[in-house]
Amino acid sequence: MTSAYCFTGRSALVTGAASGIGAAAAKALAARGAARLFLVDIDGAGLDALDLPGEVHRIVGSVADEALWQALDPRLAGLDHALVNAGIGSGGPIASISLAEWRRVMAVNLDGAFMTLASSLRAMEQRGGSVVVVASVTGIKPVPGIGPYGVSKAAVAHMARIAAAENAKQGIRVNAIAPGGVDTAIWESGADFTALVAAIGREATIKAMAKTTPLGRFATSEEMADSILYLLSDAASNITGHVMVSDGGFTL
Ligand code: NAD
Repeated sequence: MTSAYCFTGRSALVTGAASGIGAAAAKALAARGAARLFLVDIDGAGLDALDLPGEVHRIVGSVADEALWQALDPRLAGLDHALVNAGIGSGGPIASISLAEWRRVMAVNLDGAFMTLASSLRAMEQRGGSVVVVASVTGIKPVPGIGPYGVSKAAVAHMARIAAAENAKQGIRVNAIAPGGVDTAIWESGADFTALVAAIGREATIKAMAKTTPLGRFATSEEMADSILYLLSDAASNITGHVMVSDGGFTL
C-alpha cells in the first residue's frame, strides 16, 4: 500500500452502506484509517450490523428524500470523500414497463444520486475532495429487459463527468465506476433471478449468469471496493471525469 492509498484522518460519506458494494467500501475506508464515516441506508439493521472503528454516523433514510439531505448538509461540511452508491434494480422491457416503475427506479438511482452528489460537492467546496459515483456497464452496453435501470446508470455516469468539469477548479475530483455483475443482494429483486435460484440454487444461478462475462465469474463487493478506494484516494490525484469499467470483460 502506498501512502497515497491511505485515508488516515479523512471523512467519508457512503450511501447504500448496509449491504454489498457500499458495505465493502465502508469497511475498506475504515480499515485504511478513515476517522469519520457518514453511512446512509434505508436498512437500519444492516447499518447497525457494521462493526467499524472510528466515528460512525448511521443515517437511516432514503437518498431520494430531499429532507434527509437538507438535514445532513450542515453535518457534512468539510467532507473529504463521497461514494454515491445506493441503487435498486428493475426488470421489464421498455414497451411494457409502467410509468410508476420507471419513476420508482429514477427516484433512487438518478434523483437520489443527484442529491447525494450535490450535497457532497457543497460539503467539499472549501477544501476540495473526491467523489465516486457507482454507475453500471448496463449504462454503456444496452442490455434488454432492464430499461429504467440502464438509463439511470448511463445518466449518473454522465452526471459524474459534468460534475468533474464543474468542480475541478475547487479541487474536487469526480469519477464513476461501471461494474459488471457483482454478487450482491441487488439481484434478489429480479423475478428471473429468484425463479432460477428456486430452481437450481443461488451459486449455480450466479455461475449461469456469469457465462456472458469473458472472465467467467461475477466480481465480489471487495473487488469493487478496491477500485473505488483507488479512485477516491490521492493515488488517483490526476484522474477526474473518468468512468472506470470493472466488468470481467462483459463489454468486450
Ligand atoms: P445491494 O442491494 O447489496 O446494496 C444496495 C444498498 O442500497 C442496500 O443496502 C439498500 O438497502 C440500499 N438502498 C436501496 N435503496 C435505497 C434508498 N432509497 N436510500 C438509501 N439506501 C438505499 O446492491 P449492490 O450491488 O451493492 O448495489 C450498490 C450499487 O452498485 C447500486 O447502485 C447498483 O446499481 C450498483 N451496481 C451493482 C451491480 C451488481 O451486479 N451487483 C452491477 C453494477 C452496478
